[in-house]
Amino acid sequence: MASDYDYDLFVIGGGSGGVRAARMAAGTGARVAIAEEYRYGGTCVIRGCVPKKLLSYAAHYHGEFEDAAGFGWTLEGARFSWSKLIANKDAEIDRLENIYLKLLSDSGVTVHRGHARFLDANRVEVGETVLSAKTVLIATGGHPVYPPGHGWQHAISSNEAFHLAALPDHVTVYGGGYIACEFACIFNGLGAKVTQVYRGPQILRGFDEDVREALAAEMVKNGIDLRVETTIDRIDKQVDRIDKQDETLSLHLSSGEVLETGLVMAATGRRPNTQNLGLESAGVELTAKGAIKVDAYSRSSQENIYAVGDVTDRIALTPVAIQEAMAFVDTVYRGTPRAMDHAGVPAAVFSHPTVSTVGLSEHEAREKFGEIDVYRSAFRPLKHTLSGRDERAMMKMIVERASQKVIGAHMVGADAPEIIQGIAIAMKAGATKQIFDATVGIHPTAAEEFVTMREPVPEPEKQAAE
Ligand code: NDP
Repeated sequence: MASDYDYDLFVIGGGSGGVRAARMAAGTGARVAIAEEYRYGGTCVIRGCVPKKLLSYAAHYHGEFEDAAGFGWTLEGARFSWSKLIANKDAEIDRLENIYLKLLSDSGVTVHRGHARFLDANRVEVGETVLSAKTVLIATGGHPVYPPGHGWQHAISSNEAFHLAALPDHVTVYGGGYIACEFACIFNGLGAKVTQVYRGPQILRGFDEDVREALAAEMVKNGIDLRVETTIDRIDKQVDRIDKQDETLSLHLSSGEVLETGLVMAATGRRPNTQNLGLESAGVELTAKGAIKVDAYSRSSQENIYAVGDVTDRIALTPVAIQEAMAFVDTVYRGTPRAMDHAGVPAAVFSHPTVSTVGLSEHEAREKFGEIDVYRSAFRPLKHTLSGRDERAMMKMIVERASQKVIGAHMVGADAPEIIQGIAIAMKAGATKQIFDATVGIHPTAAEEFVTMREPVPEPEKQAAE
């Protein structure tokens, strides 16, 4: 692949999407370089999915210890050390970052450290070095945003949550999305008193209504003080420091209440990293929301420049970025152009209990298909007959009546993401309700509910008439 450029491909951003694209492209014989200004691994590995799930595991022990009593165990002297958890988590993240770097060098990718900026469509500057490439892939990810208003410099985002010197006695989480729900449950499980403040009527906007209600109910049962239809209008504090336990913040809520808290975390959304990349010099256009505008093949408005992952603001999930990266490599380097299929992407919220979902919510399905059958099961998991925990699981399936295809599956309960992953495969294969019915369950599990739900719930108008 002879070329006048230094590289065939230059990748900006060493996260999940960028690293995968760089390695796979190099594997086809392309000369590839990559630049990352922070740490290799990106949001998912360094300050997202992976450390979050490690913290979530830690938080689950709290409930497990409580539950153990009903099974005959006596546990004495269980104590939690935040600093030990963070140190162990940091060591694991260092290990993973090194694996990412090794994978890149083993694939023959030239690794640069530093901020990359376009000089024009084919030239990129990393520090003092100017490099040219035939094709450039932007995979710079996103960053958390704080809401407007007074005092948010006293708050943290999820970035800082992974590095707190100590866990305060009281934590307030602002927002009702993935990150807010996950961290409210983590802090709560690790022993802090947690207040979650959300502006809308119910957390997890966009999820199935039954899922939203079921998770909110469980979170409240677990002790989280959930304030919906409430905003934080102002934060007061004397010193601009967040890592001292004895410091207090005063949160002025829209309800008129002033809430005293040790820490406030904004989980109010993320924005694509498109600033200071020299995109104008490269002729790369942005969407109204500041994301890189791409076509189905992840190609930007400039024909030799592509973008994948959170920076494109399509679906902000690591496995999506990775699939977009693979589709990019197939398209540009393997001669088999293909667009990633963004339909039917399963997702999970690692709350306590977990939430997982694939396909359409009941509301979306009714709007799209009109005639649907809804199957729902809410039950006390077997484990809690002995643990005594007042936790219920909720599972729901949405079926298009005409074709009998399963078009939505939702679960709130232990191991929901592990269960929904398999259901997502069946749905991708176009499985009908009859195929689910013909599948033998694994007993005793919660998952078997997905193949044993026989009676649809009454239609909404029938329910209303009852
Ligand atoms: P989300 O978009 O999920 O949630 C943002 C929350 O902040 C919403 O509840 C939103 O309210 C609220 N909000 C936004 N702006 C304001 C404001 N100005 N004032 C008050 N509240 C506000 O974003 P997250 O940051 O939680 O996560 C970003 C993305 O990262 C997710 O969409 C997901 O794709 C990904 N992610 C995935 C995870 C997973 O797979 N488990 C985990 C974490 C993140 P409203 O609903 O009213 O708009």
